[in-house]
Amino acid sequence: MEIELAKSYGFCFGVKRAIKKAEQIKDAATIGPLIHNNEEITRLWKNYNVKTLESIDELKDEKKAIIRTHGITKQDLEDLKRKNIEIFDATCPFVTKPQKICEQMSNEGYEVVIFGDENHPEVKGVRSYVSTKAYVVLDEKELLDIKLPSKIAVVSQTTKKVEKFMEIVNFLMLKVKEVRVFNTICDATFKNQEAINELAKKSDVMVIVGGKNSANTKQLFLIAKNYCQDSYLIENEKEIQKEWFKGKEKCGISAGASTPDWVINLVLEKIKEYA
Ligand code: SF4
Repeated sequence: MEIELAKSYGFCFGVKRAIKKAEQIKDAATIGPLIHNNEEITRLWKNYNVKTLESIDELKDEKKAIIRTHGITKQDLEDLKRKNIEIFDATCPFVTKPQKICEQMSNEGYEVVIFGDENHPEVKGVRSYVSTKAYVVLDEKELLDIKLPSKIAVVSQTTKKVEKFMEIVNFLMLKVKEVRVFNTICDATFKNQEAINELAKKSDVMVIVGGKNSANTKQLFLIAKNYCQDSYLIENEKEIQKEWFKGKEKCGISAGASTPDWVINLVLEKIKEYA
């Protein structure tokens, strides 16, 4: 069986930056997981004493707090600033961008449509910067029964598909007089998505490595599944099953933007045993 890695996969700029920061800062707490990858979170905790807390309320005698790549809400940031703790911001600049756009656009009186999952931490954070009205949607149909204002701004969760974003924008163009569109989908996601598209078309089994709580990993899995029925999403090499590769000629591998190389290498070695 031939094994091929996607042309672009794994760690993105924002995640690399956050991990480097966490390794340098050490002995700190992050509010929510720094990145969406349990293996890496465990490594940071064991080797650098960087622990993950669920919320600000869990802070006790920690001296340093790191803000995760997906950012936190404006309110949480204000609460954090009131505590006696040093704050290090590891929010990815691609996430800070829609936060700033939301703040600025709503200051100018625009209501905001956010294309994304309303329960995702990044979207919760971005939404918190809207001081007018925010509509968080995954599909333009969700806007059908809403009385839309005359001017609206549109942003996207960084990990969403550009085609769907365009459908939402097109819908708004027909309904609203003034639409300000900000493509806030990040490059890294885009490159990994394009590469998996290409690879899944020519593979008969696909393995996607990444956190099951990672939106961009799940997105990669969905794209792979679209072209290759036998696609599997795994967090580490222990989940791999020999039967997946029986009678297969080509196995494609990709990984989410928060998956470290050392996890991908372990997966690769395991698959080679079954090739
Ligand atoms: S996937 Fe994009 S937005 Fe998310 S951390 Fe990476 S570079 Fe930043």
